[in-house]
Amino acid sequence: MAEAAAERMEVETLQTPREAARCAREGNASVAACTRCGSFVCATCVRVSLERPACPACWARMKQQGSPRVRTALLLATLGLVTFVPGPIALWLALAELRAMKRGEAFPGGEEDARLARNLGLVETAALLLALAGFTLGS
Ligand SMILES: [Zn+2]
Ligand SMILES: [Zn+2]
Repeated sequence: MAEAAAERMEVETLQTPREAARCAREGNASVAACTRCGSFVCATCVRVSLERPACPACWARMKQQGSPRVRTALLLATLGLVTFVPGPIALWLALAELRAMKRGEAFPGGEEDARLARNLGLVETAALLLALAGFTLGS
């Protein structure tokens, strides 16, 4: 909750027009910087997902691939196959993303990846718990 509030504040600060920064497409005063590529966007070009500003190019890419949270979840789930430890984090991120999609706050393009990350995360969390239980019983 505190994290979401912090993000909101950050966007509000960004939306104050800057004198120096100009939109790369139309040359209008920029209201935000894209959270993916860092390019400046004006009020006409800015796209906002989960209150994170993005430029039109990155927006199109995210729409197709899902938001960065999906890719983080999938990356952690893949790492979890080797070490198990990131599994619970992947599971948590994937569940959060799927919930956000249900509310229409995240890109549905990432649903397949989010489900994969959730399933891997579940298996890895179970494996981690079993390993911990075995360790506790064994010692
Ligand atoms: Zn961008
Ligand atoms: Zn613009």
